This record gives sequence, C-alpha cells and structure tokens, in this order.
Amino acid sequence: MASDLILHVKKEYFDEILSGKKLFEYRRRSPYWKKRLRKKTFSAIQICSGYPKKGDKDRIIHLKWLGFLEETIVHPHFGKRKTSVFSIFVHEHDFKSEYSFYFDCFRCSKCGYTIYEF
Ligand SMILES: [Zn+2]
Repeated sequence: MASDLILHVKKEYFDEILSGKKLFEYRRRSPYWKKRLRKKTFSAIQICSGYPKKGDKDRIIHLKWLGFLEETIVHPHFGKRKTSVFSIFVHEHDFKSEYSFYFDCFRCSKCGYTIYEF
C-alpha cells in the first residue's frame, strides 16, 4: 500500500498553503528527491508545520496526492540562480474547460496546469 508523502515546511509556508496562496512545494532535483519522488505514487500528502506531534491537527494539512512537475525556476529559497526542482502540487486543481478546435482542454484556474484530452 502506498504511504503518505510527508513534507515539513516553515510556518510561513504552512500558512500560505493553508490559505491557498502557495500552490506548490518545491524540492531541489537532488539524487535524494529523485529517488523519493520519481515513479512513485502516494496515498496523500501531509504538510507539516515544522515537526509536530502525531495527530496535531493545527500543524498538519492533509491533501490529495496530485503529483508534481519537473521545472527550472528562480525562487528566493534557492538563491538567485535558476534551480531544477520538483514542483509538488499542494492544492486541489480547479479545472475549467477551455475551447480548443482539436481537443478538449482543461486548465486549472489556480496554477495554470493544463490537461488535454484528444
Ligand atoms: Zn492547479
């Protein structure tokens, strides 16, 4: 059985995820995270504010596992240079249908992630 992916974040990021302001958690595409994330599936994600005690509902958010994107981004957390990261979805997509001549297209109104159905 798949287990939950547990991510520990600073309180400021935890609050942003809780309020829906932060849509992704970024992890450097290091050997550790490649091994941890690629070709893996999880039952859910738990976002922890620091290292709470088990069952501390105020400091743990439970989210659906929706996977991640592999991207190169500039984020203050990683300094000023472009960094290869896993952008893990930490929100529930809000897909809206968009017209396209050749295929159905659904775009998340929050993060812009788009899926196509041919
Ligand atoms: Zn989204």
